[in-house]
Amino acid sequence: MTQVYNFSSGPAMLPVEVLRRAEQELCNWHGLGTSVMEISHRSKEFIEVAQQSEQDLRDLLKIPSNYKVLFCHGGARAQFAALPLNLLGDKTTADYIDGGYWAHSAITEAQKYCTPNAIDVKTSVDGLLGIKPMKEWQLSDDAAYVHYCPNETIDGVAIDELPDFGDKVVIGDYSSTILSGPLDVSRFGVIYAGAQKNIGPAGLTLVIVREDLLGKARREVPSILDYTVLAENDSMFNTPPTFAWYLSGLVFKWLKEQGGLVEMHKRNQAKAELLYATIDKSDFYRSRVALANRSWMNVPFQLADPALDKVFLSEAEAIGLQALKGHRVVGGMRASIYNAMPLAGVKTLTDFMVDFERRHG
Ligand code: PLP
Repeated sequence: MTQVYNFSSGPAMLPVEVLRRAEQELCNWHGLGTSVMEISHRSKEFIEVAQQSEQDLRDLLKIPSNYKVLFCHGGARAQFAALPLNLLGDKTTADYIDGGYWAHSAITEAQKYCTPNAIDVKTSVDGLLGIKPMKEWQLSDDAAYVHYCPNETIDGVAIDELPDFGDKVVIGDYSSTILSGPLDVSRFGVIYAGAQKNIGPAGLTLVIVREDLLGKARREVPSILDYTVLAENDSMFNTPPTFAWYLSGLVFKWLKEQGGLVEMHKRNQAKAELLYATIDKSDFYRSRVALANRSWMNVPFQLADPALDKVFLSEAEAIGLQALKGHRVVGGMRASIYNAMPLAGVKTLTDFMVDFERRHG
């Protein structure tokens, strides 16, 4: 069978070693004669999974002890509502940095709960999509927090600069970039991420929240979105997505075995450099994103002749390069190259791109 490389933006490729291990223990987990997804979330065995996975995540990200880690339902979009409901307190506004599709979606949701101060930071750099430097962001004085998305999965735009806004509460939507490299968690009030890109299966969302931000939720917040309730119940106020949690735990272990986030950073850099170098080598392929804001995780690119898009995709598919079609909003192609994508996968893609250009250029 052809070796398949899946470039989907999410749900996305998982490490093959993790899938094999899950397969091996699927029907008989830890000798119990049953699957991990069939046991109670309150059983001693599952609580061990929960605690170990949290510890491994804490080790990987060096999460300070004054942060809670919540394993939630509802995807990142649920957090678009949970954030204002938990953090506005008696304020009526929050700063929302608009750098792309997902940051904008968070603003739309926040409008149900407050009057967000939307700050458009998109800019054009020599005709390419860029982001204004953080020092130019016009934050307001009366905002409960500042929300931004450091990696726009669809636009392929990244903000690598880390926030340094004094005592402002900064929130980062890390859905498509968490665990891709080391991160200074202490710069943030809240970091959140849907699992289905760089962590594990869909159905789980991680929320890392600084303890002093708990206890401020509005009365009407649904209990399952209330950070304080979740923290007090070790993320088991209701039945958590146990299988996704277990599998994410295996991914955390895998990351540790690979050498942790410094090593992942190195590998992700090598993959992204190879892909962008291939895009930049000729006019046959184009990136619309300015150099300083190119994402390492999601790489959209266009063919100079869009009439070739369909041929490109079908030829790529035929040799096992899957899910390269760009998002409908942006068009063209997009290669998502999260942690689980090996360099060999990107090399196969770039070899194909060079060959495709030779034949069709
Ligand atoms: N934020 C970002 C950066 C995303 O990429 C996505 C999904 O692709 C979302 C939020 C929404 O995530 P979910 O589908 O888990 O609600």
